[in-house]
Amino acid sequence: MEQPMSDSKDNVDVTGGCLCGAVKYTAKLKSGAGACHCSMCRKWSAGPFMSAHAEGKVEFHGAGQISEYQSSEWAARGFCKTCGSSLYYHLKPRPEVPEGEYILSAGTVDDQSSLKFDHEVFIDGAPGWYRFDDEDSRQRMTEAEILAMFAPDAPQ
Ligand SMILES: [Zn+2]
Ligand SMILES: [Zn+2]
Repeated sequence: MEQPMSDSKDNVDVTGGCLCGAVKYTAKLKSGAGACHCSMCRKWSAGPFMSAHAEGKVEFHGAGQISEYQSSEWAARGFCKTCGSSLYYHLKPRPEVPEGEYILSAGTVDDQSSLKFDHEVFIDGAPGWYRFDDEDSRQRMTEAEILAMFAPDAPQ
């Protein structure tokens, strides 16, 4: 699938991990980082889920310390069993992305200097008490636009 939010030539190798250190990973990140304002992400991470999109596989160390919660038909959320850190949102394999797709919690990336905040999603789900400045610098998508992209068969 064509990802409008990032450019593969800007991919960068990173390491990351949870708060307690039980889970660590290495990943290749797309340059674009985002914020998801949906109600599930806000339950899961206090505010918008700040995301860093991995390209391809993510190699986890301490994978036995990861618990997954199937939060929808198309994705599961991984977190550390010990410290509770939100680690990733894993989109199930799709024909265009046979290995699935890991959207890592940006906060778990060790060196975040390469991240570029370039998109917000579920902007119509944001509760209104917080906001990011400089909206025009990013792509901003509603729930309907996101579902059409990632879960075209889901009931609307
Ligand atoms: Zn942990
Ligand atoms: Zn979300």
